[in-house]
Amino acid sequence: QESAAPPGSSAEVAAADRGEGPRTLTSISCVVPCYNEADNLERLLPRLSAALAMLAPQWEIVLVDDGSTDATSARMTQWTRQPGVRGLQLSRNFGKEAALTAGLQAAAGQVVVMMDSDLQHSPALLDTFVRHWRAGADVVYAVREHREDESGFKRLGVYWFYRLLNGADRFEVPPGAGDFRLMDRKVVKALLALPERNRFMKGLYAWVGFEAVAVPYVPDERAHGQSHFNPLRMVSLALDGLTAFTVWPLRAVSGLGFVLALAAFGYGAYLSLDYLLYGHDVSGWTTIVVSLMLFAGIQLVSLGVVGEYVGRIYEEVKRRPLYVVQRELGQGLREDA
Ligand code: UDP
Ligand code: MG
Repeated sequence: QESAAPPGSSAEVAAADRGEGPRTLTSISCVVPCYNEADNLERLLPRLSAALAMLAPQWEIVLVDDGSTDATSARMTQWTRQPGVRGLQLSRNFGKEAALTAGLQAAAGQVVVMMDSDLQHSPALLDTFVRHWRAGADVVYAVREHREDESGFKRLGVYWFYRLLNGADRFEVPPGAGDFRLMDRKVVKALLALPERNRFMKGLYAWVGFEAVAVPYVPDERAHGQSHFNPLRMVSLALDGLTAFTVWPLRAVSGLGFVLALAAFGYGAYLSLDYLLYGHDVSGWTTIVVSLMLFAGIQLVSLGVVGEYVGRIYEEVKRRPLYVVQRELGQGLREDA
């Protein structure tokens, strides 16, 4: 593994410039959120533990059962009898972002990898991740190569989501990058120090910064079952992201109000002059009704935009924990003699 040609990303060149030699990996944790993935676990875990054992002298897999209703919990319990496999059972379904946070909190390794349990994220890529980390990258994230499997509608939505999200900020959320990534301990620490309840992870990864390297990959087919993210959930996730990382919608609302007020003023002036100069009667029941409905609609939409932010402020100030752990199983870092 060490003999592989050194990758030449800017993060790695920067590390070389600072005079840092290749880093030595002593321990690696892999966090795997699972929601109703019993069949997938059976296939993933043998492959994953074999891959991890090749990478570092100490390794662990942290399975997070996100309130599954199938046999996931039972399978997880069985697997945690093996050294190196730990299990966290959340008390109900808290969502992937919370499950990931729970796993990160528990992970003990010098670097932490996160991957899905449905075999869409291949353990074969971990070797590349670690190679980049050795060369100096603090974050190595997988970027999906193509979205041909997705509908044009979804791709358009994704495109606009990133356009809107990345409009103004000093940091950019790279499109196509997900939770499949490796992070150095200091990055994990920075992530866990963020106090917010709204864990829009893609945004948080970008917010903490650090030297990151992208690795293109093509996700495999889901092995068993189907995706848990339906269009409705995607929209809700997108709203989480937009409200957590932008305030421009609030400004857009004031801008819209200003423009409309100006237009209304102009139209009013035009009608008055028309009446005073040419004696034309003020006509148009239709104009009144249409403009009334238009303005009522715009007001409600604006109220909705403000409401999205207010709702999220409410979520934050309640200060509830992100998740509740019901059971903890297994032992941590396994040392292969
Ligand atoms: N997942 C989770 N909690 C949830 C939904 C999903 O822990 O409420 C996990 C799921 O078990 C899988 C990963 O998140 O390991 C990604 O889920 P999925 O494959 O459904 O999403 P997609 O690949 O379609 O984005
Ligand atoms: Mg999946």
